[in-house]
Amino acid sequence: MDADVIVVGAGLAGLVAAHELTSRGRRVALVDQENAANLGGQAFWSFGGLFLVDSPEQRRLGIKDSLDLAWNDWQGSAQFDRKDDEDSWAVRWARAYVEFAAGEKRPWLQSHGISLLPTVGWAERGDLRADGHGNSVPRFHVAWGTGTGVVEPFARYAKQAARDGLLTFHHRHQVDELVIEDGAARGVRGTVLAPDDSPRGVASNRERIGDFELTAQAVVVTTGGIGANHDIVRRYWPERLGTPPAEMVTGVPAYVDGRMLDISAEAGVRLVNRDRMWHYTEGIQNWNPVWPGHGIRILPGPSSIWLDALGRRLPDPCLPGYDTLSTLRHLRTTEDIAGHDHSWFVLTRKIVEKEFALSGSEQNPDITARDRKAVLRDRLLGKGAPGPVQAFLDNGADFVTANSLDQLVEKMNGLTDKALLDAAEVRRQIVARDLQINNSYSKDSQVQGIHNARRYIGDRLGRVATPHRILDPAAGPLIGVKLHVLTRKTLGGIQTDLDSRALGADGQPIGGLYAAGEVAGFGGGGVHGYNALEGTFLGGCLFSGRAAGRAAAEQTA
Ligand SMILES: Cc1cc2nc3c(=O)[nH]c(=O)nc-3n(C[C@H](O)[C@H](O)[C@H](O)COP(=O)(O)OP(=O)(O)OC[C@H]3O[C@@H](n4cnc5c(N)ncnc54)[C@H](O)[C@@H]3O)c2cc1C
Repeated sequence: MDADVIVVGAGLAGLVAAHELTSRGRRVALVDQENAANLGGQAFWSFGGLFLVDSPEQRRLGIKDSLDLAWNDWQGSAQFDRKDDEDSWAVRWARAYVEFAAGEKRPWLQSHGISLLPTVGWAERGDLRADGHGNSVPRFHVAWGTGTGVVEPFARYAKQAARDGLLTFHHRHQVDELVIEDGAARGVRGTVLAPDDSPRGVASNRERIGDFELTAQAVVVTTGGIGANHDIVRRYWPERLGTPPAEMVTGVPAYVDGRMLDISAEAGVRLVNRDRMWHYTEGIQNWNPVWPGHGIRILPGPSSIWLDALGRRLPDPCLPGYDTLSTLRHLRTTEDIAGHDHSWFVLTRKIVEKEFALSGSEQNPDITARDRKAVLRDRLLGKGAPGPVQAFLDNGADFVTANSLDQLVEKMNGLTDKALLDAAEVRRQIVARDLQINNSYSKDSQVQGIHNARRYIGDRLGRVATPHRILDPAAGPLIGVKLHVLTRKTLGGIQTDLDSRALGADGQPIGGLYAAGEVAGFGGGGVHGYNALEGTFLGGCLFSGRAAGRAAAEQTA
């Protein structure tokens, strides 16, 4: 045997599983198709948002959260409707995960040296219904160090385990087959890829220079999702979301290729909920791309006006930062706009300065570097847009600015093949919205939402601009942002039980085979159901990777 356990995929889920194994003395072979520079996978690039329930950070900000409230939110978002079948384990994972987030998660993170910013934010506010999708309270805790900081201790443990002789890295080894004998996993076979010294995140070559086979008592699959493979995204795009866009930007590196899902299915693994995906409607083309089609997601505050491709304001709950999948459904199923792949934010300089957060570790260098002074200076006390946002204003292909609305609309029309926007109609809607802004009891639900958000100190200080008219020249210049659909997360995948054991077609565990992280729908084959509360993906990798490592360690004791 080459190791006690083979872990396929050196992202966050794989590294956590490997740590659980090596800290119990098991010998691990850690296999990844990418080079050593990519250790940590997507998590390295992530914003580091973590879903926690009733945390000290929330309490300090006066937020009243509870396990019951969070569980109600989770169920309202998940809308599990396959409980006897594809959701049977997902529901149990969901409950276990929310309990983890309300209890052990924070001290466990702390035990690995992961700490949190004192502010807590929103990611998905939701669909405006008490029993519908969304967070009732802010729960998005950002880690100091962003996702880079979350993955760092686990990457460090793996390197130390390698020095201790407990872990061997097999970089540039691409798994093509899971070896199952007598109903149990015995190893993996695959292709050795040519060396490639591309920097982290850059697409690497796929030149084959040989084959390999590794054997072990157990195999853990932690190979991530499908976000970079638009063919797979399109193949499983659900009818309820209309037609997939012809053009999308890509929110993940090219190695998030989804290949291992079909390879696992060929080995007899049960895949579930493949129609559930989590894509964003606020994607922009990265002016400084790392991977092919590199898009960045805006995490918007609530004040921009959101227009469809024909210039009509989107209906509730399709408001900035509320409900990404409802917005996607609206954009892709409304007949006269479904043929267009974009929508628009129109906003002011004042709004962009306070309300545009960009997802990704490299877009938040102050937090990634744990530079507390810079965070205070640039985000709370500073004037002007944070540097990375300003860089998009200066260089982004999707950004236009102007001092008058007519000029702005002309520039926006210049970003599409045909002029689709009518300046008078855009003006009419903005004027109507602006007339509502002075009264917090406005009849306009978005304006209500802006005023409501400012009742929470975290939003008032750092995330929501002082309510103002979009056409107020003092708040200008005006800004138009062309938004694309950005592919990111896979919500379905390998069905697993609570020990992360991969289940076969008969619903029974396949001996010695485990799956965790995004490839397993972050637990159970789809812990989120149809919708995510956000900050739940990294946490899902930590929780399911930990379960897989512990169970595989026990099996191989
Ligand atoms: C920009 C960005 C921002 C994000 N922000 C957040 C956030 O704030 N909060 C949050 O909760 N989540 C966030 N996420 C999502 C989260 O980072 C990912 O869902 C999570 O890191 C996935 O981890 P994983 O270990 O399951 O898979 P991955 O990180 O994708 O790792 C899988 C690894 O498997 C390897 N692999 C795949 N197939 C094979 C094969 N056949 N053979 C060998 N190796 C293979 C890949 O090369 C890769 O290294 C963000 C993601 C991105 C990209």
